[in-house]
Parts: sequence; structure tokens; C-alpha cells
Amino acid sequence: MTTRKILVTSALPYANGSIHLGHLVEYIQTDIWVRFQKMRGNECYYVCADDTHGTPIMLRAEREGITPEALIDRVWQEHKSDFDAFHVGFDHYGSTNSAETREFAYGIYNKLRDSGLIESRAIEQFYDPVKQMFLPDRFIKGECPKCSAKDQYGDNCEACGAAYAPTELKNPYSAVSGAAPEMRQSEHYFFRLSDPRCQQFLREWTTGGALQAEAANKMQEWLGSESDSKLSDWDISRDAPYFGFEIPDAPGKYFYVWLDAPVGYMGSFKSLCNKLNTPSPDKGRAGEGFPSPNFDDFWSPDSQAELVHFIGKDILYFHALFWPAMLKNAGLRTPTKLCAHGFLTVNGEKMSKSRGTFITAQSYIENIKNTEYLRYYYAAKINGTMEDLDLNLDDFVAKVNSDLIGKYINIASRCAGFISRKFDGVVATHNQITGNRGSQLMGIFIGSEELIADAYENRDFGRAIREIMRLADRANEYVNDMAPWVLAKQEGQEAKLHEVCTVSLNLFRLLTLYLKPVLPKLAEQVEAFLNIAPLNWSDTDQILDGKINEYKHLATRLDPKLIAAMTAANTETLTPAPSSVTVAGENTHSEQRHAAHQQSVTKAEVAEAEKDFEPFISIEDFMKVDLRVARIVNAAQVEGAAKLLQLTLDVGEAQTRNVFAGIKSAYDPEQLKGRLTVMVANLAPRKMKFGMSEGMVLAASGDEPGLFILSPDSGAQPGMRIK
Ligand SMILES: [Zn+2]
Repeated sequence: MTTRKILVTSALPYANGSIHLGHLVEYIQTDIWVRFQKMRGNECYYVCADDTHGTPIMLRAEREGITPEALIDRVWQEHKSDFDAFHVGFDHYGSTNSAETREFAYGIYNKLRDSGLIESRAIEQFYDPVKQMFLPDRFIKGECPKCSAKDQYGDNCEACGAAYAPTELKNPYSAVSGAAPEMRQSEHYFFRLSDPRCQQFLREWTTGGALQAEAANKMQEWLGSESDSKLSDWDISRDAPYFGFEIPDAPGKYFYVWLDAPVGYMGSFKSLCNKLNTPSPDKGRAGEGFPSPNFDDFWSPDSQAELVHFIGKDILYFHALFWPAMLKNAGLRTPTKLCAHGFLTVNGEKMSKSRGTFITAQSYIENIKNTEYLRYYYAAKINGTMEDLDLNLDDFVAKVNSDLIGKYINIASRCAGFISRKFDGVVATHNQITGNRGSQLMGIFIGSEELIADAYENRDFGRAIREIMRLADRANEYVNDMAPWVLAKQEGQEAKLHEVCTVSLNLFRLLTLYLKPVLPKLAEQVEAFLNIAPLNWSDTDQILDGKINEYKHLATRLDPKLIAAMTAANTETLTPAPSSVTVAGENTHSEQRHAAHQQSVTKAEVAEAEKDFEPFISIEDFMKVDLRVARIVNAAQVEGAAKLLQLTLDVGEAQTRNVFAGIKSAYDPEQLKGRLTVMVANLAPRKMKFGMSEGMVLAASGDEPGLFILSPDSGAQPGMRIK
């Protein structure tokens, strides 16, 4: 087998939000594939980076009163720690805001410009006159042009589902300042994807085997026919103020996402090469056993190395058309393979904050702790296609408990104790394994190696898991039939017991080897228990020898209560409408406008930006509330009410008001009689179980226990208006 050189990437997460279980579908599957390649002895590197540039980052940093650099540093730490917890083993995790990425972005831009593939032209765009900046589509809101629903986003209407351009909105306003945006002209830079050179190249490239069949078909649709090309030029610039790389020959213009985010793949790999070529204690295990990698070996146009990108199907247009065309024309190599995957649904539906299924990595870690359970479940469902993956939470619990605990761990936990107690921890030798069934079974396990490897190689991890669990079933049948616990009690069966337990542990060792790309941490624990060197794929034909360590508990059953606690912790009940969060790829009706950055500008993000002005109300709004000084004429218990007191209030009117107030826990009615307080006098009367409530008394409360009604200073008279 020849050693392959492989550079693998995952899409860059945007540095304005937390990693959630939807993101992890991609990072976990990439990591499994990379670990498999490394176990096979291939020279494989896995790099990624935070995507750090753009308007949302700039605005968020401003809102938090920190620099964009401070913001992206903090988010980088959070992302990195989440990935570490899920055992996503990047060889390098960088940032697009790096000197390396900048240099490559400039180099690519210069090459494209010199080949006549960059063009500038004036376009009209919404401009926020208060913030003095051009607005991304998502930051423009207004009334739907079709159904007039208010507060709709600049791309589609949540009320009627219509899709439109932001210019079509009625009464548009900026989500950043609330100001009415103006149309202004600005000079933008474009990559001429419509150029015949790009078209011709892409027609060949998209049918050359780099894409999954379903993706290749989609591309032909997007490319259009030769006489009717559908490729259009891509806007690669944004105006200042912007957080990013300034275009070298265009002051005040910055590279938009296309020309810096994917270039981050190169920047991050360059950083890895630098790291591995510099003596340092912090090298990690990247490329262990190989000479330090050379950047050009992987990126020159004649590179023999493989370049494999794992991406969500939402950024396929970009990675299958724009990116290879850009690389080709900049004199670099193009990708070997694009592995596009679908999105995550939870319990058959989109992740949702109101259902508690919008689960962050952090929340999973806090509630479930064992991150390999999720790796296992995802692996069992990933099949190398672009289909969506459903995390059914009940099925998740069932599968972890039946497969991992019930089938896999169970083999070791039933046999290891006998080896320790009866044979001083020493397994039987090869010659002592004389039974046909045990030898045959070990042969079958070893012989399944190619089948399982083929499934991993083709990213059909579900098939690999099914095969491995089929083997686990056979191992359990063997243990059940041989019943070591019965042998242990019988005279003269020591040799048989020794053999059965040794065979079982050998089968367990092979299952561990096959599961290792999915369960790296557990495999490490098993290696320590079996007292063996780290398992590699070529170790299938070896068998256990000598002394093993005492069996310690390897994993526990997944308690469904933990799942319930996790969804409860993630259920948002107070947030009103706008935060139906956009999970990567939703609303991508127009790929060009909504890829990468647009989709990461979630509605939640926009809602957050809006807080800058929405919390303020006008004086007219305030004056609508009629606050009056009230005298508590009488206060009484309400029969059958746990929290309420009935108050009779004098607000200077001919008649007193009857108000039910939820202050029973804090006040004795006698104390209240005669006191002055503050009430909302124009609240619509409300019919309650105990009678009509004609207003509301104001009281203060916080996180601490306690409830405090308000009192005006002495001299105030019932009926006085508070304003
Ligand atoms: Zn509408």
C-alpha cells in the first residue's frame, strides 16, 4: 500500500457565535475520516480556522465595547475548547485574520487581476446614513412587499414566505440604527466567473470526479448550457468601515468573504508547516513519522497530494464553482474531492430554541459529558450523501445503550475479571486457543477489515458501524454460549475458561480497533487496559499477549434524564418571535447572496443588533402609561388564592378600584392598610377567577427572594399622576 498525502479541511465556523450540534455534524465526520486515514498510515493533515472578518463581527465588537481582534480571540478560545471536548483533532486550528491568509489573499487577487479576471463597477446599495455604512441585506428590515407584514428581513417574509430583494421592502429601515436607509452608489470589485475561461474550465472540472453524483448534477443546473451560461460575476469587495483585509490597490475597499475565508484553508496549512518546521515542544502529533510537510507539495498545480474539503451542502455552489475557478486562475492546484453533507434535524425538525433542540456544544458537554456518544450516533447515521441527518433524542439514548454499552463494552466487562482473578492477568497464548469456534471467529473478525475500511474510506460510516455491530453480536453469542461464569464454577475447566476469555478479549480488541476513528478516547482507555501500543489499522492480525491490566469501568449507560435536562436547559420561553434561528443553510434560495456570510448572519444576530435601538421607547410611548399615586384603603386575603391579595385603592376618583396583586408572600394585609403606593391606572380591566382586577400595583423584585411595593414620598396625594 502506498502512503497517500492528504490535506483535509472543514468549513470555517464564523466567529460570531457558538458551536452547536449542527456544526458538529461536519467536524465529527471530518475528524473520523482523518483519524481513519492516519490509522491507515497515510500522511494526513487536518486544518481549519475561525472565519473572522465581516460586518457582523465589526458591529458585535462595537456593541460589546471591545476591538474586533479581542472579540475573535475570545470566540477562538471558545470554539477551540468545544472542538477539543468533542475530540476533533485538528493538526492546526487558525484564524483567517492572519498574516499567512492575508499574503495568500493578496497573491491570488493579484494573479486574477493580472489575468483580466477582476473588474470594478458601480452598484447601488442600501446605506445607513446614521451609522455611515453600507448595509448587508440581512440588516435591512421593513414591510413585506407582498403581504405588508411588518418587521420582515431583507430577503424573505416570515409571514407569507415571499422572497424578494431588500430594495422591494416597504418603509425599509436599518436594523443597526433604525434609520431609513438611502440608496447610494459604490464602486465594487468582481471576480469574472462569467468569463469563458472560467466556464470552460468548470464544465470539465465539475464532471471530473471531485463531486458526489448528486452534487455534480446540481452543478450542471447551476452552470447552464454552453449557449446559455448561468454563471454570473461575483462581488468580492465591501466598503469601509469593514473588519477585514483592505484590497491592496483599492484604498477603502475590503475583500468580502469569498477572497479571504477559503483562503484561510491555505493560511492555516501554512501556519502548520511553519509550526512543524520550527523546533518547538508544542508540535503535537501532526505528521508523526513523516518529514515536515512542504507547503508547495500540497498546493502547487502539479501537486500529487489530495486536497479534500468537507462542507455543508449550502456552500456547495461556492466551493464547486468559485473556489476551483479562483485557484485554477491563480496558478494553484484545485480540490481533489468535495464531501458535501446535509443539515442536522433534531427529532425530525429544524433545531429550535422554543423546543429546546437548539443545543450548543457547551450545553451538551455540561449535561451529557460523554461526547463520544454523539460521535457514535452521528457516525451510525452518516452515509456520505447530502441527505439531512436526524438526531432523534430517544433513539440516541437507545442506540448508545444497546450498541456501545450492551454490545461492545459488555464483552470486556463479562470476561476481563476472570483473567485478573484466576490467571493473574495473563491471557492464554496462541497455542492455548484450540477451540474451532474461537479461532474461526477471530478469523472472521480479521477478515472483515477490508469491508470496514472501504466503508470508512467512502465516508459511509453508517455501513462501517453496522458491520462492526454485526461482529459485536457474534462475539456476544460466543460469550453467551461459552458462559465463562459457568465454566468458572466447574472443576477442570480452567483451560477452557482461560481460552474463552482470551478469545473474547481479542474480539474486543478488534472491535476497538475498528471503532477507534469514531471513539478515540475510549480506544485509548482500552489500549491502557489491554496493555497494548496505540492501535493502527495494520494491527488487525496481531493478538493479545502477556499481561493485561485490571478492568476498570469504561463507560456508563446514557440516562434519558440527562437528555431531558439538556433540552429543558435550552428551551427559551421568553424570547419573542424573531429568534427562530437560522441554522446554517436555511433560506438559501439564492446561493450567491446567501452563502457563507449571509447564512451566518442569523436572524438572532440581527435581533441582537436591533437591541441597540429597540430598548428605547419614545416619550409618547411612556406617556401612554397612566401611573397614579394610590392609597390602599383596604387589603384582604383572597380565599383559595395562593399568591394574591385583594386591594381596594383610592386613586382620587369617585369610586375606589379593586385590584388583585400577587404580593401575598411578602405582605401582611394589615401592614398595607392606609399606605400610599403606585398603580397603573389605565391597564385594561381583567376578569380573574376571583373577580375583576382594575389596574396593577407596581412592585420590585429580582433574582433574590423578596417583593417590594413602591411608595411615593410623603405629601403625595391619591390620584396624582406620575410622569
Ligand atoms: Zn409577506
